[in-house]
Amino acid sequence: MTDLLKNKVAIVTGAGAGIGAAIARSFADEGARVVVSDIDAAAAEEVAASIDGAIAITADVADETQVENLVARTVSTFGQLNVVVPNAGIATTTPLTETSFADWRKVMSVNLDGVFLTIRHALPELLKPGGGSIVTISSISGTTGSPLIGSYAAAKAAVRSLTQTLSAELRFHGIRANALLPGFIDTNLVTSHQRDFEEALGLEFGGFDDLVVAKQTRYGRPEEIAAAAVFFASDQSARCNGSTWCSTEVSPVRCSKLSSGVESTGGSSRVQGPGTRPPERFVDCRLRL
Ligand code: NAP
Repeated sequence: MTDLLKNKVAIVTGAGAGIGAAIARSFADEGARVVVSDIDAAAAEEVAASIDGAIAITADVADETQVENLVARTVSTFGQLNVVVPNAGIATTTPLTETSFADWRKVMSVNLDGVFLTIRHALPELLKPGGGSIVTISSISGTTGSPLIGSYAAAKAAVRSLTQTLSAELRFHGIRANALLPGFIDTNLVTSHQRDFEEALGLEFGGFDDLVVAKQTRYGRPEEIAAAAVFFASDQSARCNGSTWCSTEVSPVRCSKLSSGVESTGGSSRVQGPGTRPPERFVDCRLRL
């Protein structure tokens, strides 16, 4: 590895499994000291135990007091905080028209409130060393909407918007904010809802796996999203702020529907800052996974 994150301290929420665990591992491989945070204490402990120098801190990102404690313990342990990845997320599978307000709030509280709270409480610490990076995890569904996961998709759209607002508000403070938009990644979040999709969408030929393959040729791997997170957390992406990175292997048709700043170039995503950015702040961060 190349020590891209040497001397950095990072918090990754929802890091007890899936994409978050892969990000935590990749950050540590690049020299970061990592806080593996999750609502599931045992899962966080297990992942942290497998990473040199990492610690586990249990926190429900929807609970402000627990998030405050997460940041405070990070700083008391490592003395600083440089990178935050508010990754924790959940999904329910119900048509939007049948979604109860309680289920709507549950998804919003984790996927949107949790992102806001994590960033809000990390920010004073990110500002201290004079620079930092925020890497949010939105989703392709946040740009297209998606049957059965309407509340999830709405929250992910908001995460993308929130990230772009942060990039503008923080640009003179040395803090960059960029959003990752994965397609279908092979984690429990997707596989646990496979049957719901198959039944609700009436998939007669093949199952959900075939649908994924038809849309994006194969499932993405958590490590592929982690590679993008390393890029946006590190100085390699110093000219990227307010970017939205769309995971590869997603149907180009879908990608081309994304709004300003992102266009598909076949197998890779071309990522730019928002169109309103002045020429001198133009960024063109190509990443091929
Ligand atoms: P995952 O495998 O289910 O992992 C998510 C982790 O977050 C789990 O350990 C989960 O714990 C934890 N978590 C749930 N609620 C939490 C809370 N309130 N506070 C703290 N931690 C909590 O899911 P994933 O696929 O890795 O998803 C990670 C992120 O990527 C999410 O934001 C997701 O929306 C996003 N994403 C995923 C995909 C995909 O295809 N997988 C695509 C686009 C975006 P429990 O298991 O105990 O609930």
